[in-house]
Amino acid sequence: MATCLITGGAGFLGSHLCDELLRRGHRVICVDNLETGSLVNIEHIRVPEFAHLNVDITEPFFVDEPVDVVYHLASPASPIDYLRLPLHTLKVGSYGTHHTLGLAKLHRARFLLASTSEVYGDPKEHPQREDYWGHVNSVGPRGVYDEAKRYAEALTMAYHRQQGVDTSIIRIFNTYGPRMRAHDGRAIPTFLRQALADRPITVFGDGRQTRSFCFVDDLIAGMIALAESGEHLPVNVGNPDEFTLLELAETVVEVTGSRSEIVHEALPTDDPQQRRPDITRAKELLGWQPRIGLRDGLQRTIDEAGAETLLGLNR
Ligand code: NAD
Repeated sequence: MATCLITGGAGFLGSHLCDELLRRGHRVICVDNLETGSLVNIEHIRVPEFAHLNVDITEPFFVDEPVDVVYHLASPASPIDYLRLPLHTLKVGSYGTHHTLGLAKLHRARFLLASTSEVYGDPKEHPQREDYWGHVNSVGPRGVYDEAKRYAEALTMAYHRQQGVDTSIIRIFNTYGPRMRAHDGRAIPTFLRQALADRPITVFGDGRQTRSFCFVDDLIAGMIALAESGEHLPVNVGNPDEFTLLELAETVVEVTGSRSEIVHEALPTDDPQQRRPDITRAKELLGWQPRIGLRDGLQRTIDEAGAETLLGLNR
């Protein structure tokens, strides 16, 4: 049994990671100040192997028991959040990552940084491999998130190279599943909410921009496999099946049996045109690949989350 500390453990991905690590027999310390997460995501966990510390990681923090693995997920993640919290997003990526890496160093723990496909910006290479350096607008509104993550990656490599910390970096591509917030502004929760209410589904631009969507269980399996490997350089984890936003909207209508029509809205600033991971490294290094397709994942999201939650009625 290992003791795993998860920053951002009360968020969407973090809470699924808590569940899976506990299921595998580990102890879990969830560090989360509930800035964008919620106790609702962890209230079902009632075992002595689990603890929640309500701590803001932009301030130094300590844990007075041995820690074996640190999963660093804390950060606003959806555009709605980081556009509302630009300075906080930069602080979590910088100070928060410093403090969390410092804690991993103190405990001689394995460290995993939750980075993002946004480090590739609006990519000029397709699909995106880990050795592509990206095309990011540092001064645009999304720059606060993209650059915070790029800085956090640089910091992680510096702690590894200069301080000998055993680090890893996962570049997460769009992930969905139960516990997404109905109003977090990302495509899948928005489309599901609109479809279940038989309201118009709002697709940005002409809807021909592409994304790849990974079901949360697949993502968490890849994340744990990376943390348990000895790899230090970034690894893409996501589902390489690529869909246009229009195809996604049509699939959501089909799976929900909705009567919604599809309407178009203006594209947000710096919205990437294409997104698809090259997962060769994850396959070779971790023996990992996603197993759950879009239709199946959407159905599981509806079944597990329930229509009321997806409609945003009970939060
Ligand atoms: P989320 O907003 O649901 O979770 C983030 C958690 O971090 C929240 O519980 C929040 O309260 C916590 N947090 C924020 N600031 C904090 C602070 N100062 N101190 C302590 N806790 C703090 O987001 P998510 O979708 O679960 O994303 C988790 C991580 O994965 C993020 O780092 C995000 O950048 C990354 N990621 C997610 C996706 C995705 O599709 N969900 C894609 C790429 C990367």
